Amino acid sequence: MDILVENITKSYGSQKALDNLSFKVKTGEILGFLGPNGAGKTTTMKAITCFLSPEQGDIKVGGRSVREKPDEVKKDIGYLPENNPLYLDMPVIDYLAFVGELQGVPKEKLKDRIKLMIKVCGLTKEKHKKIGELSKGYRQRVGLAQALIHDPAVLILDEPTTGLDPNQIIEIRELIKEIGKEKTVILSSHILAEVEATCDRVVIINNGKIVADGTPEQLRQKAQGNESLKVGIEGGEKNDVYTALNELSPVAVVDFADDGDNTFIVESKPGMSSAKAIFDLCVEKGWYLTQLTPQEKNLEDVFRELTN
Ligand code: ATP
Repeated sequence: MDILVENITKSYGSQKALDNLSFKVKTGEILGFLGPNGAGKTTTMKAITCFLSPEQGDIKVGGRSVREKPDEVKKDIGYLPENNPLYLDMPVIDYLAFVGELQGVPKEKLKDRIKLMIKVCGLTKEKHKKIGELSKGYRQRVGLAQALIHDPAVLILDEPTTGLDPNQIIEIRELIKEIGKEKTVILSSHILAEVEATCDRVVIINNGKIVADGTPEQLRQKAQGNESLKVGIEGGEKNDVYTALNELSPVAVVDFADDGDNTFIVESKPGMSSAKAIFDLCVEKGWYLTQLTPQEKNLEDVFRELTN
């Protein structure tokens, strides 16, 4: 089921939390929603799940407007809100029955749905425990199970792995990937590695606006910009090497690298590569080239450049 966010704007007083925001998520896609604190991620998710109404714009879920058909849209969405609010005094199994009824799961199907959710979310051993007795990771699984109980086509997960230990993060991540094979998923996160590992596509927002949209690979390539090489040269005096590198025609900037006396970061002019010129320089001067490594940008660099 496709999600189409069209030019939505939402303000709190004089502050614009969302500023003419538009993006699309295709059926079966897992979209990672990234942004610094206060960027507008939760506000967008609340708008998609019909918990708040934007002042301008519209959102269509499976072609239906959240303004015109909120009740129909809600039935197709499973939502794990930030901080995962749960009834701590209820046993897991009772809580899932309660949510299932609220979500309109037919009585004759409810038992089977609960059984399946307990299996899929790995809650078999904990199903009779009160939610308040569970560890954070297991509470998060209950949160996922309640979001999935009515078998929605769309899943909206607001920071689903916050506060989990590394083992639990990997387990929940695998679970989301598995679920995402059949459903359209939007998940927000601050953990860039998680988004890279889980999502097909990434949207980065800042101050309520989209600043990047693409696969993790596309975003990295886009941010790559000019060639940057880590260069190690032995056999020459450090400042002589620095000066000679700076004089090469394809070179734009040379910096001393942090991790060694004879290592430099060499950035080339737009569209140019300095590798051959550096190699020829070493041959000419009788210096030894000990390292010539392209500096790759990771998603964290992209995030920092776009949102700082
Ligand atoms: P975080 O990563 O910290 O959860 P976020 O990207 O989810 O942040 P939102 O919670 O959507 O950001 O908030 C966007 C902006 O809107 C923030 O500046 C926030 O202070 C403001 N905001 C959100 N909800 C309200 C509210 N109920 N009243 C006033 N301002 C609000």
